[in-house]
Amino acid sequence: MICPKCEAEYVEGVTVCADCNTELVTVEEFEHHLIHHDDWTPIFQTSLSYEADMIKANLEGAEIESIVLSQNDKNFPATGDLTVIKVLVKKNDEEDAKQIISDINTEQ
Ligand SMILES: [Zn+2]
Repeated sequence: MICPKCEAEYVEGVTVCADCNTELVTVEEFEHHLIHHDDWTPIFQTSLSYEADMIKANLEGAEIESIVLSQNDKNFPATGDLTVIKVLVKKNDEEDAKQIISDINTEQ
């Protein structure tokens, strides 16, 4: 579960954000909302959280706002290949973000 306002992640069963009292939604609902109402777009998908964190750090370095969404509950880690981690950026930043990610991949 995730707070749509402050993006805090909660375990399954929690229904209201402890910080801002907002009703929580599932990660899927939150992603749907971002894509359809706030013009975010997924630009990167991985099963490795360090990879998603690295992408986010690089985007931040270029002053591109990003959101990392993990479909896997951190308290109940599944096997690695079942985890889906997506990095989303605003549609306006999509081209720049893709360039940064392809630069990272080239360096490796
Ligand atoms: Zn909140």
